[in-house]
Amino acid sequence: MTELADVTELRVPLQVIIDGYEFMRSAGRMRLEGMVLWAGNQRDTIFTVTELIVPKQKGLSTADGVCAIVDANELARLNMHLYRNSLELVAQVHTHPTEAYHSSTDDEYAIATTIGCFSIVVPNFAVINYALAQCAVYRLNVGAKWMEVDESQAPNRIVVI
Ligand SMILES: [Zn+2]
Repeated sequence: MTELADVTELRVPLQVIIDGYEFMRSAGRMRLEGMVLWAGNQRDTIFTVTELIVPKQKGLSTADGVCAIVDANELARLNMHLYRNSLELVAQVHTHPTEAYHSSTDDEYAIATTIGCFSIVVPNFAVINYALAQCAVYRLNVGAKWMEVDESQAPNRIVVI
């Protein structure tokens, strides 16, 4: 039981959530999407987040919407950071201007790409600290498809600690 797909409970410190919201909200003030990552360690079926990672990103605002882009160099730096600190990436969190849903761009350009990873989309540029129930929570299933899940219960439970 050492794979992310085996995780049935994701524990996230409140501070990680608050700090992430703060960053995403500041991007939102410029009408840009913001993205943050959660990393930590798995023990059996429980994954505990210990670190918020704010990747260097470029917020783009285009005719079809907005998106946050993390370039290849930053991705390489990120992977090195995870490796050196024995951390594993478990989730990506990003904002949308209005509605929270996983767009096809989100599916295609996800940074967290291991089966079992979570992806959380926050509505309204995270103008307030939304509860997870107000966000859209997705998980990459064994078929490598992002599926919306109910984070209030196992096996996709997210607990704020
Ligand atoms: Zn998106």
